[in-house]
Amino acid sequence: MTTAKRDGDTWILNGEKRWIGNAPWCDVSIIWARDVADNQVKGFIVENKTTPGFSVDKIENKVALKVVQNGHITLKDVRVPEENRLQGGNSFRDTARVLKMTRYAVAWMSTGCAMGAYEAALKYSQERLQFGKPIASFQLIQDLLARMIENITASQCLIVRQAQLHAEGKLSDAHAALSKAFCTSKCRETVAWAREILGGNGIVADYKVARFFNDCEALYTYEGTFQMQNLIVGKAITGLSAFL
Ligand SMILES: Cc1cc2nc3c(=O)[nH]c(=O)nc-3n(C[C@H](O)[C@H](O)[C@H](O)COP(=O)(O)OP(=O)(O)OC[C@H]3O[C@@H](n4cnc5c(N)ncnc54)[C@H](O)[C@@H]3O)c2cc1C
Repeated sequence: MTTAKRDGDTWILNGEKRWIGNAPWCDVSIIWARDVADNQVKGFIVENKTTPGFSVDKIENKVALKVVQNGHITLKDVRVPEENRLQGGNSFRDTARVLKMTRYAVAWMSTGCAMGAYEAALKYSQERLQFGKPIASFQLIQDLLARMIENITASQCLIVRQAQLHAEGKLSDAHAALSKAFCTSKCRETVAWAREILGGNGIVADYKVARFFNDCEALYTYEGTFQMQNLIVGKAITGLSAFL
């Protein structure tokens, strides 16, 4: 938990943040921290490279979403002027507005990831010959391809409907949690079937499917894990919170 304590016109931040995207090289971070005075979450703009007490360690050896560098941020008595506090972010409810849109965005990303894996697996199955025939002609391969396109179509229908709800101002936190959980879990199934269709080549990076397979693991976990999304949906449908 990162804390914020006010000292006149300055805030003092302490804590750690793990897995922060682009943190190893970016100039500025938005740090969400809990104000010890009123227990509310507030946002602060911190200059990464010039602020004493602010440090970032790059997280090495990731196997998923390798295109993004992630960092582990440590804040030790970091002093931030009041003018760097986000004036519109005064509670966890305000932060949740950001999370709603990022979670909904991950539903789109995972649908794209599943589509990429499906297209690569379909092409491979049409070109790979076994017993003198393309493996795409075998019933069990067609069964996997059909299951994959079913998952993708269901995910697309869901996120397009949620885009309509968003345009009408009706997209809720629970809607976003539902689509994040559903689309990432269906993506996970789909990329596993794609990897299966490629046989041994499914674990070689040259054939693309291994990258989709790995990237899906990050999509499934970040912006809140599958279980946490389901707890948000569970709260919405029962009226009972299992986590607070
Ligand atoms: C590639 C990547 C990029 C990321 N980028 C960012 C970023 O830019 N900014 C940022 O702030 N964060 C980022 N994250 C952090 C990410 O949001 C967290 O890793 C994620 O929310 C899971 O938290 P955790 O790793 O602490 O897992 P934990 O909370 O330790 O969870 C471990 C397991 O326990 C389960 N669990 C935990 N609590 C409960 C419970 N109450 N009930 C049931 N099950 C539970 C979880 O579902 C999970 O399966 C990123 C993570 C990754 C992997």
